[in-house]
Amino acid sequence: MVKLAVQPEVEKKVNFEKEDLPELLSPAGSFEAVIAAVENGADAVYLGLKNFNARRQAQNFDFRELKEAVDYAHLKGTKVYLAFNVLIKNSELREALESVVRAYNLGVDAVMLQDFGLSYLLRKHYPEIPLHASTQMNVHNLSQLKFLEKVGFKRVILSRELSLSEISFLCRNTSLEIEVFVHGALCFSYSGQCLFSSLVGGRSGNRGLCTQPCRLSYELWSKKGKEETLGPYLLSTSELMVLPKLKDLWKAGVKALKIEGRMRSPEYVAAATRVYREALGELKKGESEGLLSLKKKVEVLEEVFNRGFNCAYLEGKSGNELMSYNRPNHRGVFLGRVTFVNQYTGEVGLRLRRALSVGDEVEFWVKEGGRVALKVEEIKVDGEEKIQAAEGERAVLFPAEGRHKIKVGDRVFRKYNALLMREIRKSYMGKVHMKERAKGESFEKRRKIKVSLKEIKFPELKRKLSPEVYLAVSTSSLDTAREALRAGADWIYFNLIPFSGEKIDEKELIVFLEEANGKGCKIAFRIPNVWREKERVVLNGDALSYVNAFVLDNFGQILVLERYKLPFILDYHLYAFNSFSAHFFKDYEISRITASLELSLEEIVELSSHFIFPLEYPVHGFPEVMISEHCILQARKEKGCEEYCFKSKMFKLRDRKGYFFPVKTDIHCRSHVFNSRSLCLYAHLNQLYQAGIRYFRIFLENFSPEEAGSIVQIYREGLLKVSRGEKVELKEVERVHPTFSKFTTGHLFRGVV
Ligand code: SF4
Ligand SMILES: [Zn+2]
Repeated sequence: MVKLAVQPEVEKKVNFEKEDLPELLSPAGSFEAVIAAVENGADAVYLGLKNFNARRQAQNFDFRELKEAVDYAHLKGTKVYLAFNVLIKNSELREALESVVRAYNLGVDAVMLQDFGLSYLLRKHYPEIPLHASTQMNVHNLSQLKFLEKVGFKRVILSRELSLSEISFLCRNTSLEIEVFVHGALCFSYSGQCLFSSLVGGRSGNRGLCTQPCRLSYELWSKKGKEETLGPYLLSTSELMVLPKLKDLWKAGVKALKIEGRMRSPEYVAAATRVYREALGELKKGESEGLLSLKKKVEVLEEVFNRGFNCAYLEGKSGNELMSYNRPNHRGVFLGRVTFVNQYTGEVGLRLRRALSVGDEVEFWVKEGGRVALKVEEIKVDGEEKIQAAEGERAVLFPAEGRHKIKVGDRVFRKYNALLMREIRKSYMGKVHMKERAKGESFEKRRKIKVSLKEIKFPELKRKLSPEVYLAVSTSSLDTAREALRAGADWIYFNLIPFSGEKIDEKELIVFLEEANGKGCKIAFRIPNVWREKERVVLNGDALSYVNAFVLDNFGQILVLERYKLPFILDYHLYAFNSFSAHFFKDYEISRITASLELSLEEIVELSSHFIFPLEYPVHGFPEVMISEHCILQARKEKGCEEYCFKSKMFKLRDRKGYFFPVKTDIHCRSHVFNSRSLCLYAHLNQLYQAGIRYFRIFLENFSPEEAGSIVQIYREGLLKVSRGEKVELKEVERVHPTFSKFTTGHLFRGVV
């Protein structure tokens, strides 16, 4: 038996009590948020330019504002990191490089990146600029850290799905600084691996424009029909909040703690920063609680944004405690229940669990019709008008609209606490004059790096394109692989982590591999984008002898697998978005790279003409739009996932427009969500060929073996024609596959903005 994994290395010994506290890193979507963060104790803030960052919908900064923000933060001893964590097109590389260098000249302390090409260019030409690998880079195993160490990164922001023991293991085995998220919104998908918003709505999370379709309602369908679920928001996670685990993270060796929320208000930034600053201060002093007890701290955090809190992943759990199935947005804090309603006078009474003030905004959770909202303008206690009512008092409120829906027993929540917000604002509002002061002062020496645009001279293509074309398919089913072989696939990629119900028998696999090799069909084992340290795949050594390559969707595995001396094919989540993406991997045995699914045909032509490796492109099937550590099937009422997760193959999510998204789970109980419509680029094979694509890929994961066979056959014949210079047309295949014309062309003709 052969193990496909590196063994853990000797751990660094860390005496955490002698270590400095981790850096507290706060988000800033505006200048006011910078002030809010700095004045409330952030050690560093992270912010983005108007373009090129993962929160393009926030207010963000132009260079003048960036200069002011850096000056102001540095005056106060706070660092500034530039979030530049999006994918960059060839046409944008020059501006991107100039922007990073200009920001560095203005004083930013480091740059957070997702794009491989930009990382390569910065490291090569501007080695003095410290690089942080964004969580969008999907880093969660040691080999990825080793890779990033080698290419010169300084810090890595880990995937949010890791447990404390995994984080500790990683911290103790790398020289890189490790940063983790401690508070704020959680993506349902592993960050940077989500194509949901992009493929469904055309606005890409990889370009900072995610429309958050995971916060919408969905139904779960099985073969039997609609399943009862614990709530309608099946993909909506609750908020991360790690206050109870701060000491453990420090002990683990984490160097920076990050609060999420560049889209959130300055008040939110101030409150979250203040709470974590105080908690860290207590840790350092060895106190258990300072001014605010843990309960009080959590209450403050709940008031500013609450959809339920969890730190489940840190505890190694990924169950329903992570989710907010019934409410995807801020629910506020519980104020009490309605004790009487007087429809004639308009009075609604409640016994308060918390103090309430004029100016607060509350919501009555009525049984029919959802919520009734009220901005409190009048409060009466014992018939007397008051500005504030205390905890325990019986308060009378006067909702106008929707009053008739309110019933005795309904719950009331406060969504906006006017008094608290005023107090929070006081913590930073008076300091705004610092902005003016910062403007006039030159208190630190400006850096003066010049960008030479020769540095982004796109490589001329040296290799000669042969006319030959290759058809590759991916599957985790042996039956499907047999059909694909029969129908003429040139390459078969076996998913090394099979989906539920698709376990491959090793003996049968060997027989098949022998047959495939005999017919000249090449075989690759495919490693998915998520590959946690604890996951060791043990393969039959005989099987490996039939393998011609590894398909990798996780770059760390290059270092793990290079000892097998087989070439690598890089898959579509290792986004080849610009020509320099290839250079990031140039020191390794790469046989081809899959072009990003978010590029348009025009951009693929541009990419291909300067790309140092051959390109592969997916032309048919359902791309995976999300991979989540949380198993969607756990939302099934009273049933959970155990009964089905490893057996049944067929589940779907139905969105509000009636589209069905296939869902699969795998042996790690992870959810894989696929696009609702299959990609079909049959009609555009000639254009892709002209664009320089010679490797064409079909995702067979959501087709039956019979369907798979016929699809492969159609493409096989089509590609033969293409390589002979003949034109292929959709109408030729519509007789066999009338659905082909209903499928999607993905981003081929629209791209992403
Ligand atoms: S999980 Fe995907 S759709 Fe949801 S917020 Fe994250 S990137 Fe956007
Ligand atoms: Zn499961």
